[in-house]
Amino acid sequence: MHTDSPPPTRVLYLAGWGRSGSTLAEGMLDQVPGLVGVGEIKFLWERGLLQNRRCSCGTPLRSCGFWVEVLHEAFGRVPDDDELRELDEASRRFRTRHLPGMLLRPTHPPDAGELGWYYAALARLYRAVAKVGGADVVVDSSKFPSYLTALLQAPGLDVRVAHIVRDPRAVAYSWQRHKEDPDAPNGELMPRMHPACTALYWSAWNLATERITRRAGLPYLRFRYEDLVTEPDATLLAVTRLSGVPAAPVRVGDRGELFVRRTHQVSGNPVRFRSGAVPLRLDDEWTLSMAPRHRRLTGAVTAPLRHRYGYRDS
Ligand SMILES: [Zn+2]
Repeated sequence: MHTDSPPPTRVLYLAGWGRSGSTLAEGMLDQVPGLVGVGEIKFLWERGLLQNRRCSCGTPLRSCGFWVEVLHEAFGRVPDDDELRELDEASRRFRTRHLPGMLLRPTHPPDAGELGWYYAALARLYRAVAKVGGADVVVDSSKFPSYLTALLQAPGLDVRVAHIVRDPRAVAYSWQRHKEDPDAPNGELMPRMHPACTALYWSAWNLATERITRRAGLPYLRFRYEDLVTEPDATLLAVTRLSGVPAAPVRVGDRGELFVRRTHQVSGNPVRFRSGAVPLRLDDEWTLSMAPRHRRLTGAVTAPLRHRYGYRDS
């Protein structure tokens, strides 16, 4: 039957808890013809446009040609500050960081009557990203399980979930490290978290992601950061298949380096600013440097889910 409605916009949603390698994964997926990786879209309004932080191409977002074109395509212009604040406030309703909330109320978004304008704006935005990016699929590494429920309300989006997980002890170690954030407005370091806290979040966040995806019946694939780094071809092939575009081999250099083109990612780990030859190495410093008591604590708190994801006690 013929209809005038445009074909759905495909979105590959990179889910997973922070410091699990999603920015690296997105940079790699962006190399695949048909996919465009644009970072953590939920932060477009606040960090991207209101704070005018840098796009991964190095330009402040309001001056980035890619995003200016996307906004004109979606809305006819760059929304004004009042409109951006309204969009940001709406998106904040899908940023549950509160652990009980994440597990108990993850699947009940505000209804369309109240936030219909916001869901319609999201639909226009993702459609415009695909068009301007010349891609069939938009890769969004927003990661929040709660934000997935907003995308499910947006009309005309075909959402598929690629869930990246990483050994929680490596994740907890990463959250302890002092790391510079070249994107922070006042030269602040990246946020840090105690391993006990990381362990709880790692478990709740990953479980909430599985639960929302399952209840919504979304196409889903879980993959491990460690496999992405050690077997990039096979891992990316599986994720690419989920997104529905033809598979393409990843170009890896003689020294195991990856060739990353300049991207236009909003927010995310500072590795997003790297382009050209980027070494592809497993970051397993935690196995040598993590305090034994933190290692034991993280291992114990995360044990059931960690075992299911194939991470042993060693
Ligand atoms: Zn840019």
